[in-house]
Amino acid sequence: MDIFDLVVIGSGPGGYVGAIRAAQLGLKTAVIEKDKTFGGTCLNVGCIPSKALLQSSEFFHEAQHDFATHGIKLESVKLDLPTMMTRKNKIVSDLTGGVEFLFKKNKITGIKGFGKIINPTTIEITDANGTKTQIQTKNIMIATGSEPVELPFLKFDEKKILSSTGALALDYVPKEMLVVGGGVIGLEMASVWARLGSKVTVIEFADQICAMMDQDCVNVLLRSMKKLGVTFMTSTKVTNSRSAGGRVELEFESLTDGKKASIQGDVVLVSTGRKPYTANLGLENAGVEKDERGRIKTNHHYQTSTANIFAIGDVIVGPMLAHKAEEEGVAVAELIVTGHGHVNYNTVPSIVYTHPEIASVGMTEADAKKAGIETAVGKFPFSANGRAKARGATEGFVKIVTDKATDRIIGGHIVGAGASELLGEIVVAMEFGGSSEDLARSFHSHPTMSEVVREAALAVDKRQRQG
Ligand SMILES: Cc1cc2nc3c(=O)[nH]c(=O)nc-3n(C[C@H](O)[C@H](O)[C@H](O)COP(=O)(O)OP(=O)(O)OC[C@H]3O[C@@H](n4cnc5c(N)ncnc54)[C@H](O)[C@@H]3O)c2cc1C
Repeated sequence: MDIFDLVVIGSGPGGYVGAIRAAQLGLKTAVIEKDKTFGGTCLNVGCIPSKALLQSSEFFHEAQHDFATHGIKLESVKLDLPTMMTRKNKIVSDLTGGVEFLFKKNKITGIKGFGKIINPTTIEITDANGTKTQIQTKNIMIATGSEPVELPFLKFDEKKILSSTGALALDYVPKEMLVVGGGVIGLEMASVWARLGSKVTVIEFADQICAMMDQDCVNVLLRSMKKLGVTFMTSTKVTNSRSAGGRVELEFESLTDGKKASIQGDVVLVSTGRKPYTANLGLENAGVEKDERGRIKTNHHYQTSTANIFAIGDVIVGPMLAHKAEEEGVAVAELIVTGHGHVNYNTVPSIVYTHPEIASVGMTEADAKKAGIETAVGKFPFSANGRAKARGATEGFVKIVTDKATDRIIGGHIVGAGASELLGEIVVAMEFGGSSEDLARSFHSHPTMSEVVREAALAVDKRQRQG
């Protein structure tokens, strides 16, 4: 029997990108995937379908509300939801098929079936027909990802009580949608359905929406979403649910004054977080330990309690993000082959793909204060930028946070159109240990939205020129 150098369990962004790097480095590599298609949460029911619907719903909203200001008059704008969903599904199938192609191109063995660890060098695969086979390997990379958290009184049926997967596949626009949990996924889905015509209410336990992000940025987004008709209830605990004549009624309690009340909606999206997925993986057969939150324990080299078994991505500690999983997958492949592999957790970007977008990297001013770092901050609005005016995208700003003593950039926070793309240069600057002076002295084409990044860097030293 062939012995693989590396078998990856799970074909999400962590698993498939890690496998490609391993194959590039000469490892005989296999990837096992239990679902029908490769690509994991991200490609199938996460990053990609959500961004497809965000884009389509944004165009729908712009056609209704913004085109007229450009002198483009439309007689009527109609929603064709089936076409919107078909387009989304086609993007997903193109990309998941693309992973299959990449496996072939890199001579990776892609295996469809459920992977279970039998011992540190043996994995059993159960295919769709229930047939079991075993493969041998020198190393294992666990990249089994995560699944949505269910509340005990809100069990997913994906018709009335939705996880993000159900919210990405509705075949009608619900009149009223309740979103339990105002994190990134909740806000993105709230944006999609509000733009398509739902009356959306977001109910959040914490006293802030996206508490981890720069609150100046979050306030701009909330203002914009409220204009869309989205209602936000913070410091509110949902305590129970019942069906009410084809609708769902949620009971809730205010955490500020203890008052109880209820609210009804046609559907409820539960987006209260995700948890690591390790069901029936056979961790106990190889002595692989988990922490108190069900995450696989690893050392700084992604090694589990069993030296030849590694774990990466959503199933271990850290932000549940596709690009974080990818970098960890690459690091493991490089560690196995070269003994070196590295992920810089200070520069992991975090994005909310609403309109306007929020894009963030590194420390907020509040984080820096907590860490005792004295900061100098530069902030510049898109409203003072020529290209933003031409695009009609004047909402928002760029904020650069530096260590006052050294001018080194320790954080970047952007709210505005295309923030996710603009953040890239701040991430690169931070990766190189750059200062605001470095960004301020770099050419930025005129007129571009990226000039706002430069102006924010100049503003750290109060030298901004535009506006
Ligand atoms: C709606 C939504 C939107 C999101 N948007 C973004 C975004 O815009 N940007 C971003 O960075 N992140 C986003 N995320 C998060 C992102 O999808 C995850 O962080 C990322 O997919 C994690 O990658 P992973 O490789 O760790 O695991 P996953 O992508 O979850 O892949 C794990 C794979 O392992 C398979 N598997 C599990 N157990 C077994 C087994 N025993 N045998 C075989 N196969 C198994 C699963 O079927 C799955 O395909 C989003 C998530 C959701 C739900």
